[in-house]
Amino acid sequence: MAQINENYSKLQASYLFSDIAKRVNRFAEENPDQPIIKMGIGDVTEPLPEVCRKAIHDAVDEMGTRTGFHGYGPEQGYAFLREAIAENDYSPRGCEIKPSEIFVSDGSKCDSGNIQEIFSESAKVAIPDPVYPVYVDTNVMGGRTGQNVNGRYEGLVYLESTPDNGYVPSPPEEAVDLIYLCFPNNPTGACATREQLQEWVDYARRNKAIILYDAAYVAFIRDPEVPHSIYEIGGARECAIEFRSFSKNAGFTGTRCAFTVVPEELFAYDSAGEKVSINKLWNRRHTTKFNGVSYPVQRGAAAIYSPEGKKEVKTLTDFYMENAAIIHKTMTELGFSCVGGTNAPYVWIKIDGSSWDFFDELLHKTGIVCTPGAGFGTCGEGHFRLSAFNTRENVEKAMTLIKEHFGK
Ligand SMILES: *Cc1c(COP(=O)(O)O)cnc(C)c1O
Repeated sequence: MAQINENYSKLQASYLFSDIAKRVNRFAEENPDQPIIKMGIGDVTEPLPEVCRKAIHDAVDEMGTRTGFHGYGPEQGYAFLREAIAENDYSPRGCEIKPSEIFVSDGSKCDSGNIQEIFSESAKVAIPDPVYPVYVDTNVMGGRTGQNVNGRYEGLVYLESTPDNGYVPSPPEEAVDLIYLCFPNNPTGACATREQLQEWVDYARRNKAIILYDAAYVAFIRDPEVPHSIYEIGGARECAIEFRSFSKNAGFTGTRCAFTVVPEELFAYDSAGEKVSINKLWNRRHTTKFNGVSYPVQRGAAAIYSPEGKKEVKTLTDFYMENAAIIHKTMTELGFSCVGGTNAPYVWIKIDGSSWDFFDELLHKTGIVCTPGAGFGTCGEGHFRLSAFNTRENVEKAMTLIKEHFGK
């Protein structure tokens, strides 16, 4: 009799986006003439940059020739892409990352979800709250938690991101083994300072812990003082893995390309206390379970590092950041306390009371759909998220409606 992995039975169904859809559909049926503006979008809305499309087209044509055909490539990614990443994303920020430390994949969701596999089932894990749900759920699947009690899994250490700490949690008192951090953060849009990240790196090194650093939104940082990579922090090469993606900077959410950095100085321990190279372990896992991102897509990703590509990515991210600035300014002027929106495409807005009640009020009074904070974790309650991934027209309309409703 085949038995399931019962850790999966502990998972809570994620009702967030289906609940939102249900409420929006009901509202639309009852109010057929009311336009609805979706301001909760977590996907990019602008088309794929021209440099990427051209590089992908050219690569497809190349694949149609006997000499330009590419079969299986290196599982870790082609050298042209790994070298471009090291030279453009890391060297200019003073981080020496070798191409052999970069693993190209088809998404940061997979990478940040798969990484836990190479660590002990008994690893103690710290995860921010509120948070991107992948980190929690994959650790539940991996058997590192007990049951979910009142919205929290037994056995996890929750790093609370609240107004009191400016939505940037400090290291816990207790020792943990794995720490997930995400800056600029989804959903709060908050960024950690150099000093705050240094505290995390020092904590990780003291405890021989590993930081799993999700930098999916790095392209939206506008303040040069905000660290772009965990490797800008002294000692991070010995305690951190970094995840990056082409999804949000270059609109690759439907094209699929990302990468993970695992430095050669990074070690964990086996049960005999012997040091094991995490770069080698991840390489083993990646090359066994993954056969590489398609050649045309890697060419498309590499194109963003050309001078023209850099310009297009800047234009694209500037467009979203102008949306974010409009949202942030309007909400602030209306007296809401908000974070994010200045170095991230999300604005995280504080409210009194229940985020689902606020969601309903906003929908019924204005036709605007937000994301209620409670959907991202216990500490998301009392907040809602507005996304800058939208057309300018929708953002402006939404802000006018919000001003009409709240501006009294
Ligand atoms: C969008 C996003 C990613 C990127 O995921 P992909 O699988 O590369 O599309 C990673 N982390 C967070 C927090 C995100 O919001």
